[in-house]
Amino acid sequence: MISLRLGRMSPHETERMLDFDREHIWHPYAPMPAPVPALPVVSASGVRLTLADGTELIDGMSSWWAAVHGYRHPDLDAAVTRQLGKMSHVMFGGLTHPPAVRLAERLVELTPEPLTKVFFADSGSVGVEVAIKMALQYWRSQGRPERHRLLTVRGGYHGDTFGDMAVCDPVNGMHHLFSDVLARHVFAPPPPLGYTADPDQGYLDELARLADAHAGELAAIIVEPVVQGAGGMRFYAPEYLRALRDIADEHGILLVLDEIATGFGRTGELWGCDHAEVSPDIMCLGKALTGGYMTMAATLCTDRVAHGITSGEAGALMHGPTFMANPLAAAVASASIDLLQTRDWRDEVDTIEAILTSELDGAAGLPGVADVRVLGAIGVVEADEPVDVASVQEIAMSYGVWLRPFGRLVYTMPPYVCTPDETTHIAAALRAIAESFGETGD
Ligand SMILES: *Cc1c(COP(=O)(O)O)cnc(C)c1O
Repeated sequence: MISLRLGRMSPHETERMLDFDREHIWHPYAPMPAPVPALPVVSASGVRLTLADGTELIDGMSSWWAAVHGYRHPDLDAAVTRQLGKMSHVMFGGLTHPPAVRLAERLVELTPEPLTKVFFADSGSVGVEVAIKMALQYWRSQGRPERHRLLTVRGGYHGDTFGDMAVCDPVNGMHHLFSDVLARHVFAPPPPLGYTADPDQGYLDELARLADAHAGELAAIIVEPVVQGAGGMRFYAPEYLRALRDIADEHGILLVLDEIATGFGRTGELWGCDHAEVSPDIMCLGKALTGGYMTMAATLCTDRVAHGITSGEAGALMHGPTFMANPLAAAVASASIDLLQTRDWRDEVDTIEAILTSELDGAAGLPGVADVRVLGAIGVVEADEPVDVASVQEIAMSYGVWLRPFGRLVYTMPPYVCTPDETTHIAAALRAIAESFGETGD
């Protein structure tokens, strides 16, 4: 249902803005100039984005996993405004401040027990870089600099910087563009699909074999727990995560869990690793950390890792972004965690899961649909062929919904605050898109 309001910008102004945007501003993974203009958003409130012409769209993407409480939440707005009245930023070298300390206390309390030390980074990609650097510095400090490679699984996504790209899926990631400059890590096949699938012994053996073969040169294992996000929206059984923890322990190597997409309840548990009841040595958080208000990430590690790093030749963790622990971001992150705890996020996510599951039931059998899967507040329709982004978005918009597909995947991770009606609406759009895959003609 599209509701129209008075336009916030004149058509002429909008057109000028879009022309400039297309000619001068890069968008994610986009050519320059862009083949089609982006949609102009002038405001957002609750779960709705308002376009320049007044069109409102339910945001089925939570701005890439981040806006779990929706937009302009009064508590989050107030947290930012309060902090703005004190200071918006101050360097973190030699200085500290209440928002950073308060947030770090919350994160130490909420994450698995062995994680006690917090590094605040300015984006998820940097948070993963810091995790990799922690692992490599740890082994240098132990006098084992040859332990400098990572073991990961195919199908992963860990960010766009060079250290991160080297552990992204080598086929659908960007390896082919940069193969001569990326670090060479050890890749296991992708975990077999299916959260509830019985563990495949052959796959478990292959993980163990790879770790054995490379044990002397491995610093850490790095994976996204249970849900692989931008690398393919694949869900896998928690048993594989448990196996990776065991393998890491057996060889004394570190386990890094990238919870940037899965953290803060998205998969139905607070952390992806809760599904397997394991805890990592290093954990990366981002995306929903600030409730989608601004960029911030956190990399947590254990006492063992922190001690190890600090006792080595460098004597310190060699990283320190200019905007480290930004007070505005830290203040809104604490407020977002408060909201998660005072509202029943688990109930909200379970409700979304139930609606997506029932509304998408049967879509898996439609022609052109390869798979339909739901876990927590994540719903995925995978097509047989790469989808046409423009026509998928046209269908979504005819339902008053914002979705952004990639490759063969059309998916939703709604804000937790979606009402059952709004979630049903998103699911109806997804279903209509799935139905369109089998249509022939044009
Ligand atoms: C989005 C994402 C990142 C990168 O975070 P940015 O804030 O985009 O740099 C890293 N890992 C995972 C699992 C992600 O989903």
